[in-house]
Amino acid sequence: MTRREIIKQGGLALTVLALPFPLTSFSKINLMTDHKNFDVIIIGGSYAGLSSAMALGRALRSVLIIDSGLPCNRQTPHSYNFITQDGEKPNIIAEKAQLQVLKYDTVKFHNDLAVSGKKTENGFIISTKTGEIFTAKQFVFATGVKDIMPDIKGFSECWGITVIHCPYCHGYEVKSEKTGILANGNFAFHYAQLIRNWTKELTIFTNGKSTLTQEQTDKISKHSIPIIEKEIAQLKHENGYLKQVVFKDNSTFDLKAIYSRPDFEQHCKIPEMLGCELTEQGLLKVDMFQKTTIANIFACGDNASPMRSVANAVATGNVTGAVVNNTMTEEEF
Ligand SMILES: Cc1cc2nc3c(=O)[nH]c(=O)nc-3n(C[C@H](O)[C@H](O)[C@H](O)COP(=O)(O)OP(=O)(O)OC[C@H]3O[C@@H](n4cnc5c(N)ncnc54)[C@H](O)[C@@H]3O)c2cc1C
Repeated sequence: MTRREIIKQGGLALTVLALPFPLTSFSKINLMTDHKNFDVIIIGGSYAGLSSAMALGRALRSVLIIDSGLPCNRQTPHSYNFITQDGEKPNIIAEKAQLQVLKYDTVKFHNDLAVSGKKTENGFIISTKTGEIFTAKQFVFATGVKDIMPDIKGFSECWGITVIHCPYCHGYEVKSEKTGILANGNFAFHYAQLIRNWTKELTIFTNGKSTLTQEQTDKISKHSIPIIEKEIAQLKHENGYLKQVVFKDNSTFDLKAIYSRPDFEQHCKIPEMLGCELTEQGLLKVDMFQKTTIANIFACGDNASPMRSVANAVATGNVTGAVVNNTMTEEEF
């Protein structure tokens, strides 16, 4: 492949740094100009950020997307439950989106990590790890969340493959299989109610003493779902495909999949540095228009919603794009 190629689409010509890797590595492409001042900077260029960029780019706003290339679903082989892309590889969905968004010459994409942000008289300033400085009138954070892997050997290797966070995303693929729930208390109870619809071969692993109430325990046992309180030492797997739970007493339990929702934190701390409030759950506090608690700062996707799905990220990103544009038109008119 040559170093430079021109992609012509609908009369628009974009100069793309065509690097010697296939299209599946498109996320590594860095589309930059000398331009440093933008109407809007979107930090995070995955599903939510790209969706927001499309709405803004089509509204003729100059937009810079800064993305560090670490979406939360990067280890999952296939993404489900998003119409038109059901079963597609997560990076392919993002690459298709990038191609469509970067068709608009109003939108630029920069592979980098945003490290700090500051409010200025006319907007905001952002600095990146590589030392770039950009300014914008509005900020959109589409930075997602970072899942914190528990200290169980094999867990992180199975994450997104057979350790599953959400039945709507991956439950169908392991329906009727021997499945575990790695959770305790209310969370375990809620998961049991939900997952029972996908499989009756269900066992709860509380990984230590159960904190389920007596009423919850009785209901769970009415549905013949065993509760195992033994502490877990390891998830034994082959290339992320779970084989066995190994307990600290060396006993084992065969399983095909296990549901778990690890703790998470904001992937990017800049909104908090700028004064944006968090909810009790640790999400960015937004109103129904995706506005954070600080004027001209918006948030969309996983960082501001407990409904973690590609569809929700795209939907909230799309709303954000329209609301940011509307905010600007009101200020300008
Ligand atoms: C293992 C797993 C499997 C999943 N499977 C499915 C599925 O099958 N179907 C489904 O609908 N949903 C699935 N989801 C949920 C879905 O992946 C998320 O809801 C979606 O990725 C959220 O999109 P987002 O754009 O908000 O955040 P992300 O996709 O997480 O992207 C955030 C982006 O922001 C960038 N970023 C963060 N901080 C900075 C910074 N300071 N500077 C620059 N860039 C930054 C990151 O590098 C990343 O590219 C899954 C999630 C997980 C964890």
